[in-house]
Amino acid sequence: MVTILGRYALPVNPFQEDGLWLRCALHAHTTNSDGELAPELLVRHYEWAGYDVLAITDHWARTAEPSTKKLLVIPSTELNAIAPTQEHDAHVLALGLDVDPVLPEGSFAPLEEVVAWIADNGGVPYLAHTYWSGLRTEQWWDCPGLLGIEVWNSGCELELGRGDSSLHWDEALEHGRPFFGLATDDSHHPGYDSGLASTWVRAKEKTREAVLEALRDGLFYGSTGPEIRDIEVSDGDVVVRCSPAEAVTLYSGRWRGARANAGRLGYPNHSEILERNNDGLITAARLFRPYDAPYGRVEVLDKNGDKAWSNPLWIG
Ligand SMILES: [Zn+2]
Ligand SMILES: [Zn+2]
Repeated sequence: MVTILGRYALPVNPFQEDGLWLRCALHAHTTNSDGELAPELLVRHYEWAGYDVLAITDHWARTAEPSTKKLLVIPSTELNAIAPTQEHDAHVLALGLDVDPVLPEGSFAPLEEVVAWIADNGGVPYLAHTYWSGLRTEQWWDCPGLLGIEVWNSGCELELGRGDSSLHWDEALEHGRPFFGLATDDSHHPGYDSGLASTWVRAKEKTREAVLEALRDGLFYGSTGPEIRDIEVSDGDVVVRCSPAEAVTLYSGRWRGARANAGRLGYPNHSEILERNNDGLITAARLFRPYDAPYGRVEVLDKNGDKAWSNPLWIG
């Protein structure tokens, strides 16, 4: 393990850790802010949808609805911050916050202060929907204590087509900033904008503390559908096992990378398909690590256009 920029340790590989896979909804709103369902109904909704964990993230309100037998509820919130000026409004998820936030009377605090306040109060800070917010990567990539971003936000995709912030993530990673990437619903109208994205967390147990620890350590992957079953990283390659995929990609910097594509004329760029299903879709692929690649992360694309995103496998 190496520590980079004093933020956290990399590499991390949740597929090599003991524990449980927990399906987590980490961004959702209730009537305590601008969501449609009362907290109790949102809990029932996500329980029914098959999730294991729900973080309720009302704007400037910490909604502490009790957990049920099936669904672990983690009181959280979503806070505004300026990055760096008033017209650059950043939204920050404070997952597992211990205290109630207080809406400032004047302008919002700078991103660094909001992130530090979240961490000081037991929360795990992640920057929400950077593409939707129109933030440039340099406006947040040096923020101390910020753990990552939402690589995917389904609500932002449904609303404006700006749900995919992977380009911003790659810019940060390529410049040596080791951020993690969540996939979330950001549900306001459950049934219409819920159950679309999940963050699969590898936690030691199904408790608030264990889930927050895994979110701090990057032991998770995001998905709108595909399942990543295993990732093995060695000096020369990355072997990925997954649910049937149209393509498996290793992102590792400009000009570099590798991709396995399914299909009769599947284009094998620095890759080898190890297993296919009966429809010819990829269930295992070897992706060759480019020499001197600044980072590596894996994306799985299925035939419906849904994706899964691993966290960075190495950086620097
Ligand atoms: Zn937001
Ligand atoms: Zn939100």
